[in-house]
Amino acid sequence: MTSKVLDHFLQENLGSLKEKGLYNEIDPLQSANGPIIKVGGKELINLSSNNYLGLATDERLKQAAKATIDEYGVGAGAVRTINGTLDVHIKLEEKLAEFKHTEAAIAYQSGFNCNMAAISAVMDKNDAILSDELNHASIIDGCRLSRAKVIRYNHSDMEDLRAKAKEATESGLYNKVMVITDGVFSMDGDIAKLPEIVKIAQEFDLLTYVDDAHGSGVLGKGAGTVKHFGLSDQVDFQIGTLSKAIGVVGGYVAGSKDLIDWLKVRSRPFLFSTSLTPGDAAACTKAIEILSESTELQERLWENAGYLKAGLKKLGYNTGDSETPITPVIIGDEVKTQAFSKRLNEEGVYAKSIVFPTVPSGTGRVRNMPTAAHTREMLDEALTVYEKVGKEMGIIS
Ligand code: PMP
Repeated sequence: MTSKVLDHFLQENLGSLKEKGLYNEIDPLQSANGPIIKVGGKELINLSSNNYLGLATDERLKQAAKATIDEYGVGAGAVRTINGTLDVHIKLEEKLAEFKHTEAAIAYQSGFNCNMAAISAVMDKNDAILSDELNHASIIDGCRLSRAKVIRYNHSDMEDLRAKAKEATESGLYNKVMVITDGVFSMDGDIAKLPEIVKIAQEFDLLTYVDDAHGSGVLGKGAGTVKHFGLSDQVDFQIGTLSKAIGVVGGYVAGSKDLIDWLKVRSRPFLFSTSLTPGDAAACTKAIEILSESTELQERLWENAGYLKAGLKKLGYNTGDSETPITPVIIGDEVKTQAFSKRLNEEGVYAKSIVFPTVPSGTGRVRNMPTAAHTREMLDEALTVYEKVGKEMGIIS
């Protein structure tokens, strides 16, 4: 028999979400997460994955994973600090450091884990963290875990950041003060103002932390937002995920050798959670090798993104102020946004709606994620569907 208290809690909360139509039904894919996916037996043009460069289904990565599984098996067998550090992990970390132009790097099981790991290994209750109000959920949770005082600043508002940095450092209340920002903001596609952030950090002696989940592999010839601005030696923590442009799974911190040595002895997911599987680590290493050798995939990604964005704008859609391949189509009303996404889906385009509380109320949008793997024909077909559905629903004229 299940707990009555739990039953009551679930009926009240889950029931209410379902009644309001806000319960997110998950559509399982019956195919790889490539540019065309199969959902409910139907093939759809996929504009919702983070597989920016198409590497999730790349033959070279698959071969690297298969060969490594044959040699090392499917599981690492232990946490990194017992005997779950295999030479494939070390190779990946060396490649990551090279790729990010830092002294060292450390890999984790996910980008989310990485933020849980790194923030709380360095910050504690006697410290403060200045955090952009639109930072990712894993940063918010990582900050909470550290027990440092969290001071949110208005999104990319450098005057607000400066004023709060001044107040925090001059208060004498904190041992250390850190500024944390996403490199690229995932819902709008805008880029953090890193040159200004670094300048403010230098003025007030702040630690700097950039989570570049959506910038790595995309900006800075692949090396990310920090490299894009030429700031590789001026950011303390460069966080990345191995699950988006890299196409596999995992996360990492790139930084100084001392920082990485510290994370190896104090970051809890490294100490207490089994390491990345050998096959995943090898596939990630192969991806970094591909990105280090050529910018062909990034070029294709940017071309495709530019093409889709221009096509949507020409149709009369509001695509916001994105500076990256992330392409929102802003509708506003939540219910209308969800209905729009559903109609796109029925017509053959898979583009998920994103509504409150993930984005501010009244700014519901369908977020498009074009990739290097889309063909012109696929994008043209998607634009035709956007035209048909937008006109039908009175969103464009
Ligand atoms: N940080 C940011 C900024 C992200 O957008 C994401 C992915 N949603 C993560 C961290 C988490 O990465 P992962 O999916 O690898 O856990």
